[in-house]
Amino acid sequence: MEVLTQKIPLENTSIKLFIRREDLIHPFVSGNKFRKLKYNLQQAKKENQTTLLTFGGAFSNHIAATAYAGKENGFETIGVIRGEELASKINENPTLKFAQDCGMKFVFVTRESYRLKGSKNFISELKNNLGSFYLIPEGGTNELAVKGCEEILSKEDNFYDFICCAIGTGGTISGLINSSFSYQKVLGFPSLKGDFLKEDIRKFAKNNNWDLISSYHFGGYGKVSEELIKFINTFYKKNAIPLDPIYTGKMVFGVIDLIAKNYFPENSKILLIHTGGIQGIKGINIKLKSKNIQTIQIND
Ligand SMILES: *Cc1c(COP(=O)(O)O)cnc(C)c1O
Repeated sequence: MEVLTQKIPLENTSIKLFIRREDLIHPFVSGNKFRKLKYNLQQAKKENQTTLLTFGGAFSNHIAATAYAGKENGFETIGVIRGEELASKINENPTLKFAQDCGMKFVFVTRESYRLKGSKNFISELKNNLGSFYLIPEGGTNELAVKGCEEILSKEDNFYDFICCAIGTGGTISGLINSSFSYQKVLGFPSLKGDFLKEDIRKFAKNNNWDLISSYHFGGYGKVSEELIKFINTFYKKNAIPLDPIYTGKMVFGVIDLIAKNYFPENSKILLIHTGGIQGIKGINIKLKSKNIQTIQIND
């Protein structure tokens, strides 16, 4: 699959910055979620499963992607959603509304139960209630997802010195690491706080040419600041490239900040991976508006 790569003009630096527009590979199953679902859908078919079940929060890109991909590929879909209070708010939530319109059924659970979602008891209770299903973990990360993400880079990408991406569960960066060249450095920008990510990545990554830059999560998962929103809006005005506030906005902010701080050697060639997430902007904007904070101004 040929994916558009754009140059991002920078001033007063020898560094060259590029962005791979994985957000454009599918109108609804955008970016890395398409890559992560590809081999899981094949496996589910092979196992003769007719239902996909997965997990996610209120604005989850993975929930939206699974709902659409399920519909497109003839699967029933079930989303286990974090937060019981959302059950009565589906129509006010663009992500859940979209997923429901694709045919997804929901199971809303409390935050406490959601934390136990990986446990054998929780899964077997779901099977008792709902029948058989193909389980895709939260964020879609498993071995087959990593295999799909290994297809983001190709041998033709030998030109770049650094590959940068946002991190949620670590599946995407693991795929990038596995298909990178050993002289390249893969930098991950976690969109959440926590030290568990390194362990998670080591489970899947076959090389050591990577590092995490953990200072651009803006307070944690789903947290945004006015500075971040302003950055996303300015970046869009300048480059006509939309960024989401949960993942790609934080990563691109971080890289541009690090360039200004001379983190990268002179003449470095950096490739940013735009992992998508644009569907989530509508929901975040509703939240921002209710707090009287400026919204994300992109025409999606
Ligand atoms: C899910 C997601 C990520 C995180 O990917 P992981 O494989 O979970 O690390 C990054 N960017 C966007 C836009 C996403 O939707």
